Amino acid sequence: MKFIPVLMYHRIHQDEPASGLAVSPEDFSRQVEWLEKKSFRFLSLEEVAERQGRARLWDRAVSLTFDDGFTDNYKNAFSLLISKAKPAALFVVTSWVGREGFLGWREIRELADSGITIGSHSHTHCWLPEIRDESWLRREIFESKKIIEDQIRKEVRHFSYPVGGVNPRVADLVRKAGYQVAWVAGARPTETNFSPQFGLRRIKVGPRDSDLIHFSIKAYGLKTLFW
Ligand SMILES: [Zn+2]
Repeated sequence: MKFIPVLMYHRIHQDEPASGLAVSPEDFSRQVEWLEKKSFRFLSLEEVAERQGRARLWDRAVSLTFDDGFTDNYKNAFSLLISKAKPAALFVVTSWVGREGFLGWREIRELADSGITIGSHSHTHCWLPEIRDESWLRREIFESKKIIEDQIRKEVRHFSYPVGGVNPRVADLVRKAGYQVAWVAGARPTETNFSPQFGLRRIKVGPRDSDLIHFSIKAYGLKTLFW
Protein backbone atom coordinates (compact mmCIF):
# COMPACT_ATOMS: atom_id res chain seq x y z
CA MET A 1 0.00 0.00 0.00
CA LYS A 2 1.33 3.37 -0.87
CA PHE A 3 0.03 6.70 0.34
CA ILE A 4 0.07 9.66 -1.97
CA PRO A 5 2.20 12.26 -0.19
CA VAL A 6 0.12 15.22 0.88
CA LEU A 7 2.55 18.00 1.66
CA MET A 8 1.72 20.55 4.32
CA TYR A 9 3.03 24.09 4.14
CA HIS A 10 2.42 27.07 6.41
CA ARG A 11 4.18 30.34 5.60
CA ILE A 12 5.88 30.96 2.27
CA HIS A 13 8.26 33.80 3.06
CA GLN A 14 11.79 34.58 4.24
CA ASP A 15 11.80 33.30 7.79
CA GLU A 16 13.31 35.89 10.12
CA PRO A 17 13.46 35.01 12.92
CA ALA A 18 13.32 31.30 12.16
CA SER A 19 10.04 29.70 13.21
CA GLY A 20 10.57 26.33 11.57
CA LEU A 21 7.30 26.79 9.71
CA ALA A 22 8.36 28.92 6.78
CA VAL A 23 9.59 27.97 3.34
CA SER A 24 11.16 30.82 1.37
CA PRO A 25 9.46 31.83 -1.90
CA GLU A 26 12.62 30.80 -3.81
CA ASP A 27 12.66 27.36 -2.20
CA PHE A 28 8.96 26.93 -2.88
CA SER A 29 9.31 27.67 -6.58
CA ARG A 30 12.37 25.40 -6.79
CA GLN A 31 10.30 22.61 -5.23
CA VAL A 32 7.45 23.12 -7.71
CA GLU A 33 9.93 23.17 -10.61
CA TRP A 34 11.57 20.00 -9.32
CA LEU A 35 8.19 18.24 -9.10
CA GLU A 36 7.41 19.31 -12.67
CA LYS A 37 10.81 18.23 -13.94
CA LYS A 38 10.31 14.79 -12.36
CA SER A 39 6.85 14.56 -13.98
CA PHE A 40 4.87 14.48 -10.75
CA ARG A 41 1.14 14.89 -11.09
CA PHE A 42 -0.39 17.46 -8.77
CA LEU A 43 -3.62 16.07 -7.34
CA SER A 44 -6.46 17.88 -5.64
CA LEU A 45 -7.43 16.68 -2.17
CA GLU A 46 -10.58 15.13 -3.66
CA GLU A 47 -8.46 13.01 -5.99
CA VAL A 48 -6.15 12.00 -3.13
CA ALA A 49 -9.04 11.03 -0.85
CA GLU A 50 -10.44 8.79 -3.59
CA ARG A 51 -7.15 7.08 -4.32
CA GLN A 52 -5.43 7.06 -0.94
CA GLY A 53 -4.11 3.63 -0.08
CA ARG A 54 -4.75 2.36 -3.61
CA ALA A 55 -1.99 4.22 -5.41
CA ARG A 56 0.73 2.21 -7.06
CA LEU A 57 4.32 2.52 -5.96
CA TRP A 58 5.45 3.86 -9.28
CA ASP A 59 2.85 6.60 -9.40
CA ARG A 60 4.42 9.97 -9.06
CA ALA A 61 1.81 12.19 -7.50
CA VAL A 62 1.64 14.75 -4.72
CA SER A 63 -0.88 17.14 -3.30
CA LEU A 64 0.00 20.52 -1.82
CA THR A 65 -1.83 21.98 1.16
CA PHE A 66 -1.41 25.20 3.12
CA ASP A 67 -2.57 25.68 6.71
CA ASP A 68 -3.61 28.82 8.63
CA GLY A 69 -4.28 31.23 5.72
CA PHE A 70 -1.24 33.52 5.72
CA THR A 71 -1.27 36.39 3.21
CA ASP A 72 2.14 35.39 1.87
CA ASN A 73 0.58 32.20 0.44
CA TYR A 74 -1.39 34.30 -2.04
CA LYS A 75 1.56 36.04 -3.66
CA ASN A 76 4.29 33.47 -3.13
CA ALA A 77 2.50 30.16 -3.69
CA PHE A 78 -1.00 30.34 -5.14
CA SER A 79 -0.18 32.81 -7.92
CA LEU A 80 2.50 30.39 -9.14
CA LEU A 81 0.29 27.29 -8.80
CA ILE A 82 -2.73 28.93 -10.46
CA SER A 83 -0.59 30.18 -13.36
CA LYS A 84 0.49 26.56 -13.91
CA ALA A 85 -3.08 25.25 -13.43
CA LYS A 86 -1.95 23.07 -10.51
CA PRO A 87 -4.52 22.22 -7.83
CA ALA A 88 -3.82 22.88 -4.14
CA ALA A 89 -5.73 23.37 -0.91
CA LEU A 90 -5.92 26.09 1.69
CA PHE A 91 -7.18 25.48 5.24
CA VAL A 92 -8.40 28.69 6.85
CA VAL A 93 -9.05 29.57 10.49
CA THR A 94 -12.30 31.49 10.22
CA SER A 95 -11.72 33.91 13.13
CA TRP A 96 -8.28 34.82 11.70
CA VAL A 97 -9.57 35.76 8.23
CA GLY A 98 -8.87 39.44 7.51
CA ARG A 99 -6.56 39.94 10.50
CA GLU A 100 -3.16 41.43 9.86
CA GLY A 101 -0.99 38.86 8.13
CA PHE A 102 -3.95 36.68 7.11
CA LEU A 103 -5.94 36.46 3.90
CA GLY A 104 -9.30 38.21 3.65
CA TRP A 105 -12.52 36.77 2.26
CA ARG A 106 -12.17 38.57 -1.07
CA GLU A 107 -8.83 36.80 -1.71
CA ILE A 108 -10.12 33.47 -0.40
CA ARG A 109 -13.13 33.70 -2.74
CA GLU A 110 -10.83 34.48 -5.63
CA LEU A 111 -8.69 31.43 -4.81
CA ALA A 112 -11.79 29.23 -4.53
CA ASP A 113 -12.95 30.50 -7.93
CA SER A 114 -9.49 29.71 -9.37
CA GLY A 115 -9.71 26.06 -8.41
CA ILE A 116 -8.05 26.08 -4.99
CA THR A 117 -9.86 23.79 -2.52
CA ILE A 118 -10.79 25.73 0.61
CA GLY A 119 -11.07 23.71 3.81
CA SER A 120 -11.69 24.53 7.45
CA HIS A 121 -8.88 24.66 9.99
CA SER A 122 -11.40 25.43 12.81
CA HIS A 123 -12.67 28.79 14.05
CA THR A 124 -10.00 29.73 16.60
CA HIS A 125 -7.17 27.19 16.07
CA CYS A 126 -7.44 25.64 19.53
CA TRP A 127 -6.55 22.13 20.70
CA LEU A 128 -9.86 20.41 20.03
CA PRO A 129 -9.46 17.22 22.15
CA GLU A 130 -9.45 19.33 25.32
CA ILE A 131 -12.66 21.25 24.67
CA ARG A 132 -15.31 19.83 26.98
CA ASP A 133 -18.03 22.32 26.09
CA GLU A 134 -20.09 20.84 23.26
CA SER A 135 -21.29 24.19 21.87
CA TRP A 136 -17.73 25.51 21.71
CA LEU A 137 -16.57 22.40 19.89
CA ARG A 138 -19.50 22.72 17.49
CA ARG A 139 -18.55 26.30 16.73
CA GLU A 140 -15.02 25.22 15.84
CA ILE A 141 -16.20 22.42 13.55
CA PHE A 142 -19.75 23.19 12.33
CA GLU A 143 -19.73 26.99 12.36
CA SER A 144 -16.37 27.35 10.63
CA LYS A 145 -17.70 25.18 7.79
CA LYS A 146 -20.82 27.28 7.42
CA ILE A 147 -18.92 30.58 7.57
CA ILE A 148 -16.63 29.50 4.73
CA GLU A 149 -19.50 28.09 2.65
CA ASP A 150 -21.46 31.34 3.00
CA GLN A 151 -18.42 33.25 1.80
CA ILE A 152 -17.23 31.09 -1.08
CA ARG A 153 -20.61 29.62 -2.10
CA LYS A 154 -19.14 26.12 -2.39
CA GLU A 155 -19.41 23.08 -0.19
CA VAL A 156 -16.53 22.64 2.28
CA ARG A 157 -15.58 18.97 2.44
CA HIS A 158 -12.18 19.04 4.12
CA PHE A 159 -11.12 19.74 7.67
CA SER A 160 -7.60 20.06 9.06
CA TYR A 161 -7.24 19.60 12.84
CA PRO A 162 -5.31 22.49 14.43
CA VAL A 163 -1.87 21.20 15.46
CA GLY A 164 -3.13 17.74 14.52
CA GLY A 165 -5.23 17.48 17.70
CA VAL A 166 -7.91 14.82 17.32
CA ASN A 167 -9.63 12.11 19.36
CA PRO A 168 -12.63 9.89 18.48
CA ARG A 169 -15.11 12.47 19.82
CA VAL A 170 -13.65 15.26 17.67
CA ALA A 171 -13.44 13.00 14.60
CA ASP A 172 -17.07 11.98 15.11
CA LEU A 173 -18.23 15.59 15.21
CA VAL A 174 -16.23 16.35 12.07
CA ARG A 175 -18.06 13.53 10.34
CA LYS A 176 -21.45 14.69 11.66
CA ALA A 177 -20.77 18.24 10.45
CA GLY A 178 -20.70 16.84 6.92
CA TYR A 179 -17.00 16.94 6.14
CA GLN A 180 -15.91 14.02 3.99
CA VAL A 181 -12.27 13.91 4.93
CA ALA A 182 -10.11 15.29 7.74
CA TRP A 183 -6.36 15.73 7.72
CA VAL A 184 -3.86 15.62 10.53
CA ALA A 185 -0.87 17.88 10.84
CA GLY A 186 1.93 15.36 10.74
CA ALA A 187 2.67 11.74 10.21
CA ARG A 188 0.27 10.29 12.74
CA PRO A 189 -2.97 11.32 14.37
CA THR A 190 -2.72 11.67 18.17
CA GLU A 191 -5.22 8.79 18.45
CA THR A 192 -6.24 6.38 15.75
CA ASN A 193 -9.36 4.46 16.77
CA PHE A 194 -11.69 6.16 14.33
CA SER A 195 -12.40 6.00 10.63
CA PRO A 196 -9.13 6.45 8.69
CA GLN A 197 -10.71 8.97 6.39
CA PHE A 198 -10.97 11.33 9.38
CA GLY A 199 -7.29 11.04 10.16
CA LEU A 200 -5.43 11.14 6.88
CA ARG A 201 -1.79 12.04 7.19
CA ARG A 202 0.26 14.86 5.76
CA ILE A 203 3.96 15.54 5.60
CA LYS A 204 5.26 18.87 6.84
CA VAL A 205 7.56 20.82 4.55
CA GLY A 206 9.86 23.22 6.38
CA PRO A 207 13.09 25.20 6.03
CA ARG A 208 15.24 22.02 5.99
CA ASP A 209 13.59 21.08 2.70
CA SER A 210 15.55 23.86 1.09
CA ASP A 211 17.79 20.87 0.40
CA LEU A 212 16.05 19.14 -2.52
CA ILE A 213 17.29 15.75 -1.29
CA HIS A 214 15.24 16.22 1.88
CA PHE A 215 12.30 17.44 -0.16
CA SER A 216 12.48 14.54 -2.63
CA ILE A 217 12.30 11.96 0.20
CA LYS A 218 8.98 13.54 1.21
CA ALA A 219 7.66 13.94 -2.34
CA TYR A 220 8.41 10.33 -3.27
CA GLY A 221 6.54 9.22 -0.17
CA LEU A 222 9.62 7.43 1.19
CA LYS A 223 8.92 8.88 4.62
CA THR A 224 5.55 7.15 4.61
CA LEU A 225 7.22 3.72 4.38
CA PHE A 226 8.30 4.14 8.01
CA TRP A 227 4.88 5.18 9.37
ZN1 LIG B 1 -2.52 25.52 11.94
